[in-house]
Amino acid sequence: MSGSDPGGGTDAGANASAGIDTGGGTDAARAVACAPVQEQRDFPIAIIGAGFSGIGAAIQLIKAGINSFTIFERADEIGGTWRDNTYPGCACDVPSHVYSLSFEQNPNWHRRYATSWEIQEYLIDVVDKWKLRERMRINTEITKARFDEQSGTWTLTTDGGETFTARVVLAGVGGLVDPSYPDIEGMDEFAGDMMHTARWNHDVDLTGKRVAVIGTGASAVQVVPTIAPIVAMLAVFQRTPGWVVGKFDRIYPRWLRNFLARFPFFLRASRFAKYWVSELRGPIVFLDSKVLSKIGTWLSMWNLRRQVRDPELRKKLTPNFQFGCKRVLVSDDYWATFERDNVELITESIERIEGKGVRTKGGTLHEADVIVLATGFKLGLAESPFPVIGRAGRTLSEAWEGGAIAYKGMTVAGFPNWFILMGPNTGPGHTSVLVYTEAQISHALQAIKKIMAEDLKYMDVRQEVLDRYNDGIQKRMKRMVWSGCKSWYLSEDGSNHSLYPGFAAEYVLRTRKLHPGDYEIARS
Ligand code: NAP
Repeated sequence: MSGSDPGGGTDAGANASAGIDTGGGTDAARAVACAPVQEQRDFPIAIIGAGFSGIGAAIQLIKAGINSFTIFERADEIGGTWRDNTYPGCACDVPSHVYSLSFEQNPNWHRRYATSWEIQEYLIDVVDKWKLRERMRINTEITKARFDEQSGTWTLTTDGGETFTARVVLAGVGGLVDPSYPDIEGMDEFAGDMMHTARWNHDVDLTGKRVAVIGTGASAVQVVPTIAPIVAMLAVFQRTPGWVVGKFDRIYPRWLRNFLARFPFFLRASRFAKYWVSELRGPIVFLDSKVLSKIGTWLSMWNLRRQVRDPELRKKLTPNFQFGCKRVLVSDDYWATFERDNVELITESIERIEGKGVRTKGGTLHEADVIVLATGFKLGLAESPFPVIGRAGRTLSEAWEGGAIAYKGMTVAGFPNWFILMGPNTGPGHTSVLVYTEAQISHALQAIKKIMAEDLKYMDVRQEVLDRYNDGIQKRMKRMVWSGCKSWYLSEDGSNHSLYPGFAAEYVLRTRKLHPGDYEIARS
């Protein structure tokens, strides 16, 4: 990995003169900085979550010379999604040279699309390099956050009943974290093993077993081809077929990895090229354009034809919604798996689950030893992760009653100094989410610098600014492809509070500069 000197606080000198706590700032901050971090209860900055966004934010704080922060992580290890998703075949579906932190680029990816364990190892290496564990409280879940307007501080309560205070909170709790379990009758009756892809039980050996997979989304297209060769029988229950395009994955040979390590310019060039290729292809995936969708459809149909010969099977696997409407799936071998003798595609709806397997509406019982639920996640972007109580006692859930909205995906009126990372309308369907996350981190960093340099009590985005921003986002949504079908992108009422309706580059430009006028500012 490359990157600047960890802990070196590259900008420390400049920031100290601007009043930012570099271990020698304001009195309060100095007192805080003197206590060992594990004993502290009061922080200028708290980060919630040690996934990609929390880790990225922590590094950028250190690089800016801001050392007084802590990270709360509810699990016993860092990594978020990449810690939790360990199902066979789990890998990134965005090229790893782009799906990694721009300030911690990694020449050592073993393949174009890294496996989940390799991404997790990468994150652990980054955390160790920046000594972030010293600033972290693992096994500590934040269960409540309350803002005190008088002091301009957030009080964070943990599952252990402890309380901590912070001036600024960076909430990096992730968007797709908690598994979504289907509501199928008889789930408790199943006599075999049942597991969700996001909570894989590695004690269950699938070798020679009859396995039923429910769901055919991004997780299923990875797990199905991986387990098919080892199981006795695989029944895949498809409710809606998805568009699948070729992955063209490949192994990066040692010489190439050595070359990229030796000449980081080419690593950056690879990232740059992959980023722009995905950006330029973006409109095919997100615009509601018949012509562009046709290109996507053609590419996907070509993928289907090269993998499946049986016309009946092809028909069952062909989606009937516009390309891009649901997340486009990426795989070189998912469709071909259905040509195997031990794999069956079941398109009849599920009636119920019984002790011996899955019964479909027509009355057939599909016997199974193991059921795998590849049924996705609850959309964390759409709701408050835990009670968050802002100014005048209003909760974030109340503020989001009509749908989750945030100014530039980060700030909500009435919740001062609370910055959401991977917040509403900041997800991409076409490129690496980390491009958005990094833009959010640098935006929040500008606000933090301002708050600390001017010793502000708080910055609270103005309601009218937020509303105007959200109106613009929702207006643009009408030109996007996502409303034509049912997917996790949409809330119950059909509105989209998850994806950003446009290019990543445009979002980055839009968030590049903090406009203090957009915020109500309270001074100490
Ligand atoms: P998903 O895309 O939401 O797919 C869930 C699947 O389960 C769908 O096929 C859905 O059918 C089906 N399903 C849900 N409830 C069902 C029920 N009661 N009966 C039958 N089928 C049911 O979930 P996912 O595959 O876990 O992916 C979610 C997101 O996670 C992706 O879009 C992606 O953003 C992310 N992800 C990324 C990667 C990666 O490589 N980077 C890998 C995995 C996931 P319907 O389509 O009919 O609703």
